[in-house]
Amino acid sequence: MDYSISEIAKIIGSDSLLPAPDSKISRLLTDSRSLTYPSDTLFFALETSSGDGHRYVKSLYDRGVRSFVVSGSFSCSDDLQDANILYVESPLAALQTLAANHRRRYNVPLIAITGSRGKTTVKEWLNQLLQADIEIVRSPRSYNSQIGVPLSVWQLDKDSAMGIFEAGISQPGEMAKLKEILKPEIGIFTNIGPAHSAGFESIEQKCREKALLLDGCRCVIYNADDPLISGCVKAVPEMIGWSRTDPEAPLYICDVVRGNGRTEFRYIYKGGQSAVLEIPFEGEHELENAIHCLAVMLLLGINQETIRRRMESLTLVGTRLEVIEGVNGCLLVHDNYTSDFNSLAPALDFMKRRITPDCKAMVIVSDLMHDADTDLEDLYRRMAELLAIAGVSRVIGIGPELMAHKGCFGPESEFFASTEEFLHKKSTSDFRGELILIKGAPEFGFGRICELLEARQHETVLEINLDAVVSNFNAFRSRIKPTTAIACMIKASGYGAGPHELARTLQAQGASYLAVAVHDEGADLRRAGITMPILVLNPTVENFHALFADRLEPEIYSFDFLRALIREAGRYGITDYPVHIKIDSGMHRLGFLKEDLSELIELLRSQDRVVPRSIFSHLCAADDPMEDDYTQQQFDYFDECCRMLLSAFPERKILRHILNSTGITRFPDHQLDMVRLGIGLYGVKTMHDGSQDDLRPVSSLNTVIISLKNWPEGTTIGYNRRGTLKRQSVIATIPVGYADGINRHLGYGNTSVMVNGVKCPTIGSICMDACMIDVTDVADVKVGDRVEIFGENIPVDDLAEVLGTIPYEVLTSVSQRVKRVYYRE
Ligand SMILES: *Cc1c(COP(=O)(O)O)cnc(C)c1O
Repeated sequence: MDYSISEIAKIIGSDSLLPAPDSKISRLLTDSRSLTYPSDTLFFALETSSGDGHRYVKSLYDRGVRSFVVSGSFSCSDDLQDANILYVESPLAALQTLAANHRRRYNVPLIAITGSRGKTTVKEWLNQLLQADIEIVRSPRSYNSQIGVPLSVWQLDKDSAMGIFEAGISQPGEMAKLKEILKPEIGIFTNIGPAHSAGFESIEQKCREKALLLDGCRCVIYNADDPLISGCVKAVPEMIGWSRTDPEAPLYICDVVRGNGRTEFRYIYKGGQSAVLEIPFEGEHELENAIHCLAVMLLLGINQETIRRRMESLTLVGTRLEVIEGVNGCLLVHDNYTSDFNSLAPALDFMKRRITPDCKAMVIVSDLMHDADTDLEDLYRRMAELLAIAGVSRVIGIGPELMAHKGCFGPESEFFASTEEFLHKKSTSDFRGELILIKGAPEFGFGRICELLEARQHETVLEINLDAVVSNFNAFRSRIKPTTAIACMIKASGYGAGPHELARTLQAQGASYLAVAVHDEGADLRRAGITMPILVLNPTVENFHALFADRLEPEIYSFDFLRALIREAGRYGITDYPVHIKIDSGMHRLGFLKEDLSELIELLRSQDRVVPRSIFSHLCAADDPMEDDYTQQQFDYFDECCRMLLSAFPERKILRHILNSTGITRFPDHQLDMVRLGIGLYGVKTMHDGSQDDLRPVSSLNTVIISLKNWPEGTTIGYNRRGTLKRQSVIATIPVGYADGINRHLGYGNTSVMVNGVKCPTIGSICMDACMIDVTDVADVKVGDRVEIFGENIPVDDLAEVLGTIPYEVLTSVSQRVKRVYYRE
């Protein structure tokens, strides 16, 4: 549906001079925030109650848009010289004229739906019922206004065989315009109610106005039992006023039986054809909506058996886009609307508006609904493209089709065959500070994903002993010289413990630096009132201004990043900004190599925007005596790099640091100017030779028993009957599950929890929010008794061992919905 801009100018009656009259236009834009493809977009500068589109012309021009429809009063600045500016009296009228013209070009049968309620459901159901037979174009979501209808109609193209569009109005005079654009063949009047009445004198006036849509249709469908509607609908060649009371009505509905979530009814069409149908809903509104759809199917001559089959499998149409506070600082956008390609753009658009500088957009999507003969490769390629343009950095695709077309998506994407597989493999800790659009077709049950990712609190708490933190800090302090500085690693939310209280404690204790993984964590600490120096390890920064404003000191590991930083510092007039030079001495993750250093030094010396505050490297096998030769090589390599950098800046004090927790324990001779204390601070031992026995556990995950039952031998417990009792047992339920970070592999008795001093094995599978434990051996066990999952008595290492992982992962997996409680003894 490409038009040249000069064709469009002719259609809308604008005789403005166009610098590029042959420019192709395929997209219409009315809201500047929805821009996706600038080059072939035509922007209509509309004046609405919420704003004046003319104010966005310049910024859209800067983003690449070159064609605009503006009102005659718009004064165009000189820098828009190469843009096509189409002056018209009213840009809105021009948009409507263009759409009406487009509609005439694609003169396919069109169903228009009006009414106070049910428009969207009837439209979506008709699509569900008819899409197997015919290529349908329909309004995205409920685009039914003076602006929405033209934009919907614009989607018609050479492949369209039918259009189904909604028409809604809020004041007199509007429907005539919509009708002129739509020129429907079949009109449906769903019902009339008080909604959107403010612009009308009376409900009768509103009803008459809506009925205007139906004038000139070949056929109208309406509820003849509603006297108001019957009184307003004018005669057209075919009138299908359906009734539940009048056997003479063209479509008579009788024998309605409701129960078990279903409704059964009989229809008699034009006194002849009759059958019993069933829909999977019980409500009155659903029945009404289904009758409207039935009338359309009868009109189109679809056979009885097909009607029966398709009606039975109608699915509910969600219309909500919800924004929910998610775990780990995520924001969830849950779209439960029909999940096809056309509904993707509006949902992304909605999401896009919630992106803030410090939250990345991601989507969790299911396979799309589509026609049987859709070219899937093309469909998913277009989907990937749309996501990329919307700024989505991470895609999680669920469903066999997405799996099969994963090649269309970027490398950061992940795919799962089913929602179950996703829930099994991912935990809440995989999502952090992201804006997540969750959009799935109904059969995928994405409600469960929302549940997993919603922020909620219950009886389970992670208790953090701040005295133990201080004690561990001092234990490491005593291993090094008083003059050696300590950087405390509180990345990953303080190894899962929650950063604020830890940071406050360590600041008070005299730590020299805090180190966080990402800039957000640093900004968050500043918001929480932390004033000490903060080092950011992975500063993939989009917002340098925030970095500078919060005095966050970045790790520098590449020339690209360093150059960007210098450039940005210049932009904000900053000098002598401290940075930390990362050397890759053997980890091979991030950092400069020895051979990079002369260039690095030259670059650093050539400017005064940033200055090296420290040089550092990270050991990759400090805890493995078998690798001590390699560790020694790392020390030597780092030492050479330090010498090169330090001799180039004789006038500066540049801190050198390489040791982590285990390094401090095993190689105190290499403490240099500073050490970086991580896991040891949290009381987790990395060495089991007695050298860290002075460490105290900091975090303990506790919950309470919420239910107790006696069961005979042979009873099975939990999902899939995976736990069978070998004796008469007392089984307790505790409200903690994999959604809290209790890995499912801890079920089936693979681990034990502590109740009143007795170790109690898990039994059966771990559920999402709960699991069961065998408390038969606990004397006097009661509901409300405290249960330790890890902590003082059950070391984190034990769980890590069962899971074949390291304690770091167990600690950072405790989901953010688990309340953190900090205490001192
Ligand atoms: C996480 C981290 C540390 C801390 O290591 P621990 O073994 O947890 O003490 C030190 N340096 C860097 C660069 C790190 O990323």
